[in-house]
Amino acid sequence: MSDVEKINCLIIGSGPAGYTAAIYAARADMKPVMYQGMQPGGQLTTTNEVENFPGYPDGVTGPEMMIQLEAQAKRFETDIRFGFIDKVDFSGEPLKCWTENGHEIHANTVIISTGASAKYLGLPSEQKFLESGGGVSACAVCDGFFYRGQETVIVGAGDSACEEAHYLSKLCTKVTMLVRRDEFRASKIMADRVKNTPNIEILFNTETVEVLGDDGVTGARVKNSQTGEEKVIPCTGFFVAIGHKPNTDIFKDYINLDETGYIKYEQPGTSKTNVPGVFVAGDAADKTYRQAITAAGTGCMAALDAERYLAAKGH
Ligand code: NDP
Repeated sequence: MSDVEKINCLIIGSGPAGYTAAIYAARADMKPVMYQGMQPGGQLTTTNEVENFPGYPDGVTGPEMMIQLEAQAKRFETDIRFGFIDKVDFSGEPLKCWTENGHEIHANTVIISTGASAKYLGLPSEQKFLESGGGVSACAVCDGFFYRGQETVIVGAGDSACEEAHYLSKLCTKVTMLVRRDEFRASKIMADRVKNTPNIEILFNTETVEVLGDDGVTGARVKNSQTGEEKVIPCTGFFVAIGHKPNTDIFKDYINLDETGYIKYEQPGTSKTNVPGVFVAGDAADKTYRQAITAAGTGCMAALDAERYLAAKGH
């Protein structure tokens, strides 16, 4: 596909924000094209049970919910494509975007729903295991299974770390949680759950120095930031749950971002960015709520804003 493709509405990213935008845009006959991105279904595909999305009184798994959202978007003929957008030029109309294969798309509107990605510690030893594909993970729900009956370490002190530590505690003989300060960031209920789980040991004021092992992880060398004391914690799995980074790098030359990379709304209460015709939904612009339901809500807003923009332009 070397020819330029001209479309009305391009949706970049396929989490709850993207799929909800697609459902609304498709039902408004905007003939949306969606590029699913590197992780089709987004972060929810790495979540186990979702119990707080209205309409599922018995809960639903993240992957199951994303399959249903995709089916709903397809029902209204959203053109859903595997692949991702890796370059944009929003300097004028039309809005130009390129896929990873160099396919050029000219869109009248773009909805950014690229979400956020897990952060890592940045240690060379951590990177080594990430590249070799085993031992280090940012998703307990995805990878915990591999460490059944073994000992694991998890870094972090937010709700994610607590949720993942609790999840691991059901599979592993022992989970050691490394908290860099002397307190949790997590909500009290989540922290209490971890504190009350017998096979989770919490080490406060503790930083990771190195992930140990040659072919596989054998332990973590950690340091107490108060006493300077170092010790090795044996483990075969090393999990990182220290927050997320918004996936907004490709937009930074055109779209206003805050100091942590989240897209800034041009007009609070709308989905508008500083570029006319470009709208944002979900975690790419949300460091506060970061919930599936808020992402879906902003996806709806983005599609409605895009529809009104197109109508005003006479498209
Ligand atoms: P948070 O940003 O809330 O927490 C990140 C944690 O990682 C903090 O405790 C932080 O420490 C720690 N951390 C960051 N960098 C490092 C580092 N280099 N070394 C060691 N520790 C580090 O992210 P979460 O992903 O936990 O949560 C994101 C949002 O999602 C929150 O609003 C949360 O409430 C929500 N959430 C809700 C859930 C639920 O209700 N079921 C489940 C999961 C998430 P420090 O505290 O020292 O800064």
